[in-house]
Amino acid sequence: MPSNDVLLGTTTSPSQWLFELTEQLPGVIFQLHRSPRGHLHFPYLAGSATGLNGLDRHDLARNAQPALERLAEPDYPRLMAIIERSAHAGTPIATTFRLRLNGERMNWIAVRAQPRQVDSGTLWVGLMIDISEQMLEEDRLRRLSDTDDLTGLANRRKLMTRLDEELSLSNRHGLPLSLMMLDLDHFKSINDTWGHLQGDQVLRELASLCQGILREEDLMARLGGEEFAVLLPLTPESHCRQLAERLRRRIAEHDFGVGRGQITISIGIAEHRVGDSREILMQRVDDSLYAAKHGGRNRVMADA
Ligand code: GH3
Ligand code: MG
Ligand code: MG
Repeated sequence: MPSNDVLLGTTTSPSQWLFELTEQLPGVIFQLHRSPRGHLHFPYLAGSATGLNGLDRHDLARNAQPALERLAEPDYPRLMAIIERSAHAGTPIATTFRLRLNGERMNWIAVRAQPRQVDSGTLWVGLMIDISEQMLEEDRLRRLSDTDDLTGLANRRKLMTRLDEELSLSNRHGLPLSLMMLDLDHFKSINDTWGHLQGDQVLRELASLCQGILREEDLMARLGGEEFAVLLPLTPESHCRQLAERLRRRIAEHDFGVGRGQITISIGIAEHRVGDSREILMQRVDDSLYAAKHGGRNRVMADA
């Protein structure tokens, strides 16, 4: 209970003071109760966020279901499993979930709650806080750290992460997966003749031309310098080769403003062989690119 000093200046009783304080909290404090048969309700809910969004705390005091129905689809079973585990093992709840508060928009909520067994079942006391802004900022930073500055494509880091994911899917389910490596031909002389800024513009334009041809699920990344990679899930080598040919032709025909036909690319391709490591696939595609360069450039080569 606050001291009289803290209460100075207020004319309210201590219980009224406490009520007003909890109602102003920038979050929600709660009790959640679970009966032995699994019925959930919130005997106590307070905080400024409880007034929002058409959820009536008096209804929730009888049945938590209207709030649970606002959970994002994948979060509902996950949160229910967490609650069940917490009830049975007595472990605290500490997780995040998405809740629809207004219209279609999902808010990210963090929850912490401590369970204890009572005669009528399990009772948690806990708090929830809206962390949507932090999640947006984290998302922005993650995207920044995955993006190549010059072209806006994915960077090497992002490619490697996605490649690992796709390799594990391919290994597990035997799904086809192909990789391309693209390198501009004689790009040094383009820079020497037209300048580095014009060279940068060529790299940007090339990235956007390729993106216009690739599918949504393909991932194009700039590996560094004038070297790019394209990851093609669910794609066998024959399709990868056709696509690589289209990219090669499109680039060779495009007017980049440095003389038509001056910008060409060599492409190495390889299809993943189930069980091989990332390093082996990268090495094979690199060998293919080397063969395309040695074969005369402006061509697509697969490894033998
Ligand atoms: P090759 O056909 O054998 O690939 O010849 P190349 O000249 O393209 O290859 P090399 O590796 O000798 O030179 C790559 C050049 O790419 C060197 C550099 O001038 C240019 N380059 C690398 N990164 C950038 C960049 O970010 N911007 C610009 N404008 N040029 C770059
Ligand atoms: Mg080059
Ligand atoms: Mg190169």
